[in-house]
Amino acid sequence: MSQLHTLSTQQMIQGLANKEFSSLELTNHLLNRIEKYDGQINSFITVTADLARQNAKLADELRAKGDTRPLLGVPMAHKDIFCTQGVLTTCGSKMLHNFISPYDATIVSKINEAGMVSLGKLNMDEFAMGSDNEKSYYGAVKNPWDTTRVPGGSSGGSAAAVAAGFVPMSTGSDTGGSIRQPASFCGLTGIKPTYGRASRYGMIAYASSFDQAGSFGRTALDCAYLLQAMSGHDDKDSTSIAQSVPDWIAQIQDGRNAGDKPLAGLRIGVPSEYFGGALNDQVSTAVKAALAQYEALGATLVEISLTDPEITLATYYLLAPAEAASNLARFDGVRFGYRCENPTDLQDLYTRSRSEGFGLEVQRRIIMGTYALSAGYCDAYYTKAQKVRRLVAQDFAKAFEQCDIIATPTAPTTAYAIGASLSPAEIYMGDAYTIGVNLAGLPALSHPVGFDGQGLPIGLQLIGNHWQEGQLLTMTDAYQQVTDFHQKTANLE
Ligand code: GLN
Repeated sequence: MSQLHTLSTQQMIQGLANKEFSSLELTNHLLNRIEKYDGQINSFITVTADLARQNAKLADELRAKGDTRPLLGVPMAHKDIFCTQGVLTTCGSKMLHNFISPYDATIVSKINEAGMVSLGKLNMDEFAMGSDNEKSYYGAVKNPWDTTRVPGGSSGGSAAAVAAGFVPMSTGSDTGGSIRQPASFCGLTGIKPTYGRASRYGMIAYASSFDQAGSFGRTALDCAYLLQAMSGHDDKDSTSIAQSVPDWIAQIQDGRNAGDKPLAGLRIGVPSEYFGGALNDQVSTAVKAALAQYEALGATLVEISLTDPEITLATYYLLAPAEAASNLARFDGVRFGYRCENPTDLQDLYTRSRSEGFGLEVQRRIIMGTYALSAGYCDAYYTKAQKVRRLVAQDFAKAFEQCDIIATPTAPTTAYAIGASLSPAEIYMGDAYTIGVNLAGLPALSHPVGFDGQGLPIGLQLIGNHWQEGQLLTMTDAYQQVTDFHQKTANLE
């Protein structure tokens, strides 16, 4: 019983079904672990312990009455970007320090309907803008592998909580890499599905044409369980697609019965543009070894060409702030959230509420985005970037004529030191490999493929064509059946 936190999602499902332990026992074990260790990690903004115990008890009662939903009573936690009814929802910002959401995000309702037990809300970079989780109003999150290092961002709390063994799975959001890069830094598997797969309703908007919810777990199978529960069409999000969600768990199980060359016939495209420049040697070596492992599983490697990552980076950092400037206009100190003290008039109320309520990185992006959209500059920046976005998507489409999956490093480096005082531009460069995917709306996943000389995890990114999450998850599972990087855990004792 003292090792319940080391169980995979599937082991939890089986243990609950076989009555080896109850959801309340499991929930209590994880809550105790959070209480004991999260002081070191700072992954939670809010722990909803009472609510979690109540829901765990309810799950146990329902199970006793014959309810067989597989995820009934399995614990998880949400990135604090998702609205949760009656629970503080801050998005990592002072602006929402007192915001109790009056409704649930669609993905939150769906996860509740699956019977899962949320333990609380996870720390993140403010409004999901950042790559290191140092941009949270609630303090930096520490990487469980080395608490002097960043966990990545913006879903750093989501990654750290799974890596610390507080929850087996967590939700995240990915606008430019915020699931994949923290998964890479924390030695986890993390998937961002195709744009339109999971509803954005109730996910606080950063850049709406990029934002997509996804999941973290130790393995592809963990990720698949949560993603399966979250995905599907929603009338409340006009960009969610009316398409049925395949049974990814069954696909993974089928893959396991496919013999010792389960990936025979799979063509993996390797873009030369993603292996030069700033790429750390140890990351490069581990990624190449993983590609060789994929070949051993039957896949073929094909050299392909994609848009230069530096161009995708510039495109994203024009378009995403432009959308953010517009989305964040709603935080004005009037209807909800932070309001400055003693405003002298309406203008003062707006100006001071926003200057005091938003952190510096958010203000920087609002200013950059407003500039890119302003009359006289819009054609030169915003409109041009939109055109480049189309070209980036076309380059991916062309590449997918030659291959089924694209493989790249997830990030050029492993987790860097907290307080490394990198410039904003240096931090943005770290997103070079993840951002193209969001420009094109493609599904992508990161999974662990090794460690650097300091014991820090290294991730490989796999990019699929639209709606090919199943392929990403099945091939990752095939890799995880023959390797053990995903089984190594950070030690908090
Ligand atoms: N790191 C990127 C940024 O700062 C991506 C963030 C995200 O995916 N939410 O914008």
